[in-house]
Amino acid sequence: MLEDGLREDELFRHLSSIKEKDRSYRKVLSSMCSIPHPVAVRAHNIFIESNLGDPGLFMGTASLEAELIERLGSLMSLPEACGYATSGGTESNIQALRIARENAGKKSPNVIIPESAHFSFEKACDILSIEMRQAPSTEKYIVDTERMEDLIDGNTIGMVGVAGTTEYGTVDPIEHLSDIALDRDLFLHVDAAFGGLVLPFIKGSPPFDFRLDGVSSISVDPHKMGMSTIPCGCIMVRNPDFFRSTEVDTPYLTVKKECTLCGTRPGGPVAGALAVLDHLGRKGMIEVVERCMENTRFLIRGMEELGHPVAVQPSVNVASFSCDETPDGWIVSRTRHGHMRTVCMPHITRETLEEFLKDVGEM
Ligand SMILES: *Cc1c(COP(=O)(O)O)cnc(C)c1O
Repeated sequence: MLEDGLREDELFRHLSSIKEKDRSYRKVLSSMCSIPHPVAVRAHNIFIESNLGDPGLFMGTASLEAELIERLGSLMSLPEACGYATSGGTESNIQALRIARENAGKKSPNVIIPESAHFSFEKACDILSIEMRQAPSTEKYIVDTERMEDLIDGNTIGMVGVAGTTEYGTVDPIEHLSDIALDRDLFLHVDAAFGGLVLPFIKGSPPFDFRLDGVSSISVDPHKMGMSTIPCGCIMVRNPDFFRSTEVDTPYLTVKKECTLCGTRPGGPVAGALAVLDHLGRKGMIEVVERCMENTRFLIRGMEELGHPVAVQPSVNVASFSCDETPDGWIVSRTRHGHMRTVCMPHITRETLEEFLKDVGEM
């Protein structure tokens, strides 16, 4: 700790120089986050000091959170879905498994997740002392539902399906998983952290939401394709009673009970997320998603012409390729199978992709 504080101009000169060490998003093809929409930043700043952990004090912000859940609930085909804003997909997935575990009440619980599921489930199972059983994928990089069913036993508390996988942009056969869940009376959590704000805006997307009767809960992250400020995820459940199982008494707050995982929660990103959805509307979101999907298809065509085929045709704007090298100056990532993984987020333009393809061609 400094004995004498820095002058404001010194402090900010220092911070600006540090900020320059961060990558700008321009040549970043690996991120599921993007530059927030300007209306998100503006809305965030208005609610900069609000704490959703104390909703009795911040009643206005709490009403925005309720509106956000209502918007996303409608988008997930259940306007009355119950939910709250989380710090992102990880927290939503932890909470979903926590609800599933409490709901099932098994002594040595296990959960069946697709091999392709996000690594947050590993954290969730570790924290919750749930055995994680991984079902393998088919050659299409979606979960093999038969193998999934084989893993179910008397201690299974639920299953997970992914709508928009982090590595290949595929959608698991959620309709089939929903039938299995109903048949076996199991909790089914759908991880739509990424796809939840993509699939509803594409005609002919496979069904993955509360329209399917077996779906118990869904995670959707506005801080990814929702272009909100970070952090903003959402967990939604079909049955409001599900949240009773994660409630604790909060003796000294303005509300008596809290079902969330975090205590203090930022209101800014929630205002930001709602601002984007209300500013763009359905038409605006369709435009953004169409542009990202068109760019994804453009990249796939371009990579194929260069001899780097896509591993699988994706359902969202994530594409992974057989391409061992990475051109200089670009940030891509690698899947567990070694494919080059790209995400065409809103900050990726056609010109950027042309430049990328040119550099790949010259490797
Ligand atoms: C990004 C992602 C997560 C994790 O979300 P965080 O916001 O990073 O916690 C979980 N599941 C899927 C499918 C994701 O794409």
